[in-house]
Amino acid sequence: MNRFLQIVCSAVFTTIAIGILSLSGCAHTMLATGWSNDTGISEIFDTTERISHAAGLSTLSMADDLPNDTERRVGQLRIHSDFPLAGQHRLIRELDNMRATISQELDLPVSDEPIHLYLFENPADYQAFVQRHFPRFPGRRACFIETDTTLAIFAPWQERIAEDLRHETTHGYLHAVVPGIPLWLDEGLAEFFEVPQPADGFHRGHADHLTGRLLEGTWQPRIERLEELEDAAAMSQDHYAEAWCWAHWLLRTTPQRRQVIEGYLHDLRRDPVTVPLSARLRELEGPPSVTTQAVRHHLESL
Ligand SMILES: [Zn+2]
Repeated sequence: MNRFLQIVCSAVFTTIAIGILSLSGCAHTMLATGWSNDTGISEIFDTTERISHAAGLSTLSMADDLPNDTERRVGQLRIHSDFPLAGQHRLIRELDNMRATISQELDLPVSDEPIHLYLFENPADYQAFVQRHFPRFPGRRACFIETDTTLAIFAPWQERIAEDLRHETTHGYLHAVVPGIPLWLDEGLAEFFEVPQPADGFHRGHADHLTGRLLEGTWQPRIERLEELEDAAAMSQDHYAEAWCWAHWLLRTTPQRRQVIEGYLHDLRRDPVTVPLSARLRELEGPPSVTTQAVRHHLESL
């Protein structure tokens, strides 16, 4: 057994032993090759084999393993589950409402592009599905996958499902209108919107984590480090927390900073190759050391 297989297998047994709740948050990937269309799950996954060669996915057919007992259409969402799930479930309404919230918060248009949510009642079934079809994914509680034509989320129905689906659905809404959004900002905004609405984007866990790191003297905000990230699997808790912190600072401090992030997202919609946010902030705020200080102060004030 090679090392990769060992890791995967031990992850399976660990998961069964200590439960899926111990797995960390989001797994997120983009597949470069196109699925032929997005009119239905069977058609989407008929092309699994073609994708697999480019993306390292399994060559097994996915359609048989997908939850398909019920399907609900709610706004942009197409919710497929292997258990009865009322269309008016409070969480489903909340996820639907997030489309307008995100659009208003970031001054982005809304899209009608379907976002497919595949919900597994049994966490072990979800784990088996991910192991079978996305063997190179890190073990995470939920996955978001984007191809040229499809936005899809996979998640088990467990204790933290609300937080996980708010996070992954944010990816879906963002990618429907800003497909070229950089990884760090995508994750920072998903962390911002994953908290329940009354928290207004404030993520207590991340704030406490970063405050602790500041006190230890082991961390400083630096946006350029985030901008270098290209692989979601390489993102640590520090990265997720810092990405959230920058998003919160941009959206919850001054109108000028809000305009910078809105302008950046607008430009990304037209062309993913545009002036990075760090350069835009240098124009607005001055040298990086000034911005770092401002973000530190913001964190300390929370
Ligand atoms: Zn994510």
